[in-house]
Amino acid sequence: MSANLQAIRGMNDILPEEALAWERFEDTVREWLHSYGYRPIRMPLVERTELFVRSIGEVTDIVEKEMYTFTDALNGESLTLRPEGTASCVRAVLEHNLLYHGPQRLYYSGPMFRHERPQKGRYRQFHQVGVEALGFEGPDIDAEHIVMARRLWRMLGLDDIQLELSTLGSSEARARYRARLTRYLEANLDALDEDSRRRLHTNPLRILDSKNPALQPLIEEAPRLMDDLDEASLKHFEALQSLLRAQKVEFRINPRLVRGLDYYNRTVFEWVTTRLGAQGTVCAGGRYDGLVEQLGGKPTPACGFAMGVERLLALLKEKGVEAPAPVDVYVVHQGERASALAPQVAETLRDAGLRVVLHCGGGSFKSQLKKADASGAQVAVIIGDDEAQAGEVSVKPLRIAAAQLRVRAAEAPQLLRDQAWCSRPVALGQA
Ligand code: ATP
Ligand code: MG
Repeated sequence: MSANLQAIRGMNDILPEEALAWERFEDTVREWLHSYGYRPIRMPLVERTELFVRSIGEVTDIVEKEMYTFTDALNGESLTLRPEGTASCVRAVLEHNLLYHGPQRLYYSGPMFRHERPQKGRYRQFHQVGVEALGFEGPDIDAEHIVMARRLWRMLGLDDIQLELSTLGSSEARARYRARLTRYLEANLDALDEDSRRRLHTNPLRILDSKNPALQPLIEEAPRLMDDLDEASLKHFEALQSLLRAQKVEFRINPRLVRGLDYYNRTVFEWVTTRLGAQGTVCAGGRYDGLVEQLGGKPTPACGFAMGVERLLALLKEKGVEAPAPVDVYVVHQGERASALAPQVAETLRDAGLRVVLHCGGGSFKSQLKKADASGAQVAVIIGDDEAQAGEVSVKPLRIAAAQLRVRAAEAPQLLRDQAWCSRPVALGQA
């Protein structure tokens, strides 16, 4: 294939085997979200550029250099492929006045776009599951989000994800801190890189989020926001910690935690793992009490988090958690009568709730059975003219050593149920 027809770098095809693992993950995630009473919302992939500039912040990595922005050729508007979901979600909530009905617990999932250097765990089109709670003020909802995430890790069988927690305080506290931090950074001007010098007077807190290893010692020694904290934020943070302790959630307070987006205040957290190398943050979030008002709504406290789907799937893969085969039964058939009966038998098995592949394209029994084996099916249903003549089928378990059995075609579901050869429950007595 010519190179100029290949997929864009950092934007991946997800092939069937992997896509099955994705679907299984999505099933679990949906069940998990519903169990906490969160409801889905779906936003467009494209928004006005202004929305992201206003919410994420002008002087952030995302807005400065990672957005896919283009001009709508029809009306000259500047549009952007969404780099994250919170801004769009809040925009949709305001546009449709959802808060009129009281606080909202919402979720969404789908692709996000950022022009980053592609590497393991970092892509240009990646996927997030986002959770947002709007209209909640107290630390109880912050705790809910954290406990929720812990439950998901358990549901997925992931046991080595640690919680890092911090607080960014009020905007006044951040202003005080900003002044102190700027003085510190000015005193260390020589140690700063080009990006950081540029940000020194526009958004010095961003410097703390720098990925440049050379800056790490300077960042490590920087003054801490925790020391400028306002009374109310401190109380909120302490209340959150006791809620977490009461639910036996382990966490580490990391005063260096700054998120890459400007809308956060008070609680911020990240779930991190050491098993994925440099891209170890699998989930991140916190409070954004000012965002709704900033986007034109009434002052409304809120918080949320987003998970990186690719990173969680990489973690599942690394742990050897495999998705089950998508097929229970593979139906092989040969001869005119058999081939007329086979589709009907396949339908009967599907009525019983089984996942059935009907062989298409002919071939010998031997080659068909090879395909049955390769499909991952647990059972082959075999129909030759001999069986068809008698209105019967042969049923052959493919994954255990047991003899093949022959029954009337209509009784195949009953047989599969009695023999328990399929891992999936077999429902009888349906149309
Ligand atoms: P990072 O520090 O890794 O760049 P971020 O602070 O930019 O992350 P958020 O905007 O908070 O990330 O997004 C939430 C989660 O989405 C991240 O914790 C990560 O799991 C995932 N994520 C972010 N950017 C990417 C990307 N380019 N490719 C894959 N996953 C990503
Ligand atoms: Mg980033």
